[in-house]
Amino acid sequence: MVHAPERPPAGAPPVRINLYSDTQTRPSPAMLDAMMRAEVGDEQHGDDPTVHALCDRMAALMGKEAAVFMPSGTMCNVASTLVHCRPGEEIIAHETAHILTSEGGAHAALGSVQILPLKGPRGMYTPDALRGALRGKSRHTPTQRLVEVEQTANTGGGAVWAKATLDEIAGIAHGAGLSTHMDGARLMNACVAAGVAPADMAAGFDSVWLDFTKGLGAPLGAVLCGSSEFIDEAWRWKQRLGGAMRQAGVCAAGCLYALDHNVDRLAEDHANAKALARGLAQMEGVEVQDPDTNLVFFTIPGTGVAATELVRRVRMEGVALSLLGGRLRACTHLDVTAPMIDQALSAIRTALSRG
Ligand SMILES: *Cc1c(COP(=O)(O)O)cnc(C)c1O
Repeated sequence: MVHAPERPPAGAPPVRINLYSDTQTRPSPAMLDAMMRAEVGDEQHGDDPTVHALCDRMAALMGKEAAVFMPSGTMCNVASTLVHCRPGEEIIAHETAHILTSEGGAHAALGSVQILPLKGPRGMYTPDALRGALRGKSRHTPTQRLVEVEQTANTGGGAVWAKATLDEIAGIAHGAGLSTHMDGARLMNACVAAGVAPADMAAGFDSVWLDFTKGLGAPLGAVLCGSSEFIDEAWRWKQRLGGAMRQAGVCAAGCLYALDHNVDRLAEDHANAKALARGLAQMEGVEVQDPDTNLVFFTIPGTGVAATELVRRVRMEGVALSLLGGRLRACTHLDVTAPMIDQALSAIRTALSRG
């Protein structure tokens, strides 16, 4: 099977320490309680008060006119492309961008757009690289329409774009007549790490969204923000893509709970990621990228152990890691505590010492 997700291997013990992804966070009892008490209505009919409360709050937080609640971050990205771009147009993004590598080719399949991949360390490109990628306008060239950034850059190691760089990128894009889109799946991680408000971070971006199912710990939902006109068009695509929901306030209540309780604590996840990276760096043959936020990427070239084998060995000890494009990834989040970091390090050390 290639398309359906694999089920866990038979005989593997339950996962005790889940460093696989911050998507695997479970709603806490308090969040579930808030969800159970949510006032709800028919979301696609426009009368779910909890969804409205979430969208109003998110628009204000991001400094945009309007917002729409989506089932997933992927749908935020796809709907944004469909609003910003016409068939045959071009999006400029980093070569490792989620829209390019991880959305099943949706932007080509549904939007008939192409994506121009830029290079650059840690999932980020420079303002100069963007300037160099701008094409002259002619009958031969695709019309460039949109510049995209990912804050934080996921496979860049949760790297944080500096606000000054983002402002410069947006200035170049707008100066050339292009629109700007921020994939803010982990925007709050960037804001907490940099001490910059979300509205300031996203100031130069025509559209921006936040995922509630990553480190914010909600079970479902992402919110896309932009101008009233943009969100009105995004609603059209949400309906077409099957993303218009019914009593979605149950889920929106989990997102509101996350905004109240799970944002400031992201700093703990970042401290845990730093501790994990420090511990890994002390192991012989392990190369680790210093994390800005909650994603720790590492390789184990000098250990004599294959990455797949390390994943298998620690999984048998109840520790889940992921393998992305040949690199190992350990992700911290609200279900991972500081003592668990020590236990995970000890499981990895033992697994590597067996050669
Ligand atoms: C997870 C993720 C997405 C997609 O979000 P889903 O809610 O899983 O659809 C998009 N971009 C980035 C950078 C992500 O990490």
